[in-house]
Amino acid sequence: MTEKIIPLADHRYQNTIPVIPARLDTPTGLLADRRARPLQDLRISITDRCNFRCVYCMPKEVFDKDYSYLPHSSLLTFEEITRIASLFVAHGVEKIRLTGGEPLLRKNVERLIEMLAALRTPDGRELDLTLTTNGSLLARKAQSLKDAGLKRVTVSLDALDDAVFKKMNDVDFAVSDVLHGLQVAHDVGLGPIKVNMVVKGGMNDQEILPMARYFKDTPFILRFIEYMDVGASNGWKMDEVIPSAEVVRRIGQQMPLVPVAANYAGETANRWRYADGGGEIGVISSVTQAFCSDCTRARLSTEGKLYTCLFATGGHDLRALLRTGRSDAEISTVIGGIWRNRDDRYSELRTANTDTLRPERKVEMSYIGG
Ligand code: SF4
Repeated sequence: MTEKIIPLADHRYQNTIPVIPARLDTPTGLLADRRARPLQDLRISITDRCNFRCVYCMPKEVFDKDYSYLPHSSLLTFEEITRIASLFVAHGVEKIRLTGGEPLLRKNVERLIEMLAALRTPDGRELDLTLTTNGSLLARKAQSLKDAGLKRVTVSLDALDDAVFKKMNDVDFAVSDVLHGLQVAHDVGLGPIKVNMVVKGGMNDQEILPMARYFKDTPFILRFIEYMDVGASNGWKMDEVIPSAEVVRRIGQQMPLVPVAANYAGETANRWRYADGGGEIGVISSVTQAFCSDCTRARLSTEGKLYTCLFATGGHDLRALLRTGRSDAEISTVIGGIWRNRDDRYSELRTANTDTLRPERKVEMSYIGG
């Protein structure tokens, strides 16, 4: 049975305001958590709004016209986001991904990208600055995003068949518009572009092969994501998960695949290439093969709460520190302390019976980004 949602506003404010330690640290860029995982990636949600109503993320029956989104004053400003991002970069973050909601709905997002693109790692390198989008505004914005300093994009696309896609996005958005956005993004140089398909059994798994065929022999890297129990509103059931091994089996039967080594430690996708040289695919097995042991990601919510896991039930209110005049050294020390104390490994602990694993309500993906 689908679980009834509790309004997020009650939940979002159950967060802790971090205590400033008496002794302030200087960041070394070599932070590690309790499982020896470094802090390398920061995902920043810049809006809790989206123009899609994907059934696994922002289902219409929950996110309807009466749903109360965050007021603008609650959102971190671009200056606040950049300030926090710079502190994370000093701690070792090399990759920043903007998410949402739909990040391209945030007004003047290009200005934020310019500000983040100016940050440098302690040894002077540019950041890997990227963004995940549903593609609806990509054709219109790709050039300005590139000009602002964005390196690449990841685009969500759950089906090639219009009827299936529209059933999933629930707002009648056509596949051809996303494909056009992909092409424009590629043409302006926002690559390599990854295309993420969430596979939900009984909903779009018949699209696995058409999607694989369509993106084979193209510059786009298609990645299949196991349907996850993110948030509390999607009524997740284990039997709706199509294991990545099954995805690889179905594709491999038609178009032989060969495993490929990871690009770097902590890469979320397992890579496979077509034996005939037709490019590669990835599978993200967050349910059947958890990758918590390599998880180097921190998440900053739209209103400045720091989460150390996608499945967190509570966050650390960095915005409160920003807006009460705390210094960079104080906030940086707090971030360091939170990461050092991190022990999250939700996916590793997940069982087939999610109810026993979910004593508390988790934060929605549209609020902290996927
Ligand atoms: S469950 Fe949490 S710790 Fe594990 S990989 Fe996902 S975000 Fe990282």
